[in-house]
Amino acid sequence: MKPITDLILDRDGTIIVDRHYLADPAGVELLPGAGQALARLASAGVRLHLASNQSGIGRGRFTEADLRAVHARLEELLAKFGVRLAGVAHCPHAPEAACPCRKPATGMWLALARAQGLDPAATAMVGDKDADVGLGLAAGLAASILVLTGKGAAHAARMGLAEPRGPWREIAPRAPGQPHLLARDLAGAADWLLARGAGAREARP
Ligand SMILES: [Mg+2]
Ligand SMILES: [Zn+2]
Repeated sequence: MKPITDLILDRDGTIIVDRHYLADPAGVELLPGAGQALARLASAGVRLHLASNQSGIGRGRFTEADLRAVHARLEELLAKFGVRLAGVAHCPHAPEAACPCRKPATGMWLALARAQGLDPAATAMVGDKDADVGLGLAAGLAASILVLTGKGAAHAARMGLAEPRGPWREIAPRAPGQPHLLARDLAGAADWLLARGAGAREARP
């Protein structure tokens, strides 16, 4: 496996507390240790990108302007850890729209890859749901990581995956739809990625 230079992150339940149809910037709350974990990855030179399903827009529960305010708050909280997001993508559509961008479809990956020049063999996806894992697998990314925060524990159980004893556990052999890695949280995912040499492209020979 090539070292990971780019990490695509789910938002709700992965970086921040999953609040149903979050539309108020005051409700943005980083999960414990998430800021520190992303800071470790960023200092190693890993570029961080967001790919978030926001069907609340398509369902008329909140607006694109609400989402921008929520993301501005998220970026403000991350900036306190010296973390910035290189790319941000969201799918505003309701599931019944059958759009090409709602995870596990790969539209957001394709948009980020085009805009940021991403190499699937050097990119990982991390999220708390089967749809996040599904995007990573469908896009042929180097690693799909399921975290146990947010809805992750329920999704791991549904996939028949027992919780790791430590911060992470590699899944091998994998059944269809299963992630490459199960991590307790973003800190566990960062441990694994950094132990495998994740970092800046230009730092490598
Ligand atoms: Mg999520
Ligand atoms: Zn969409």
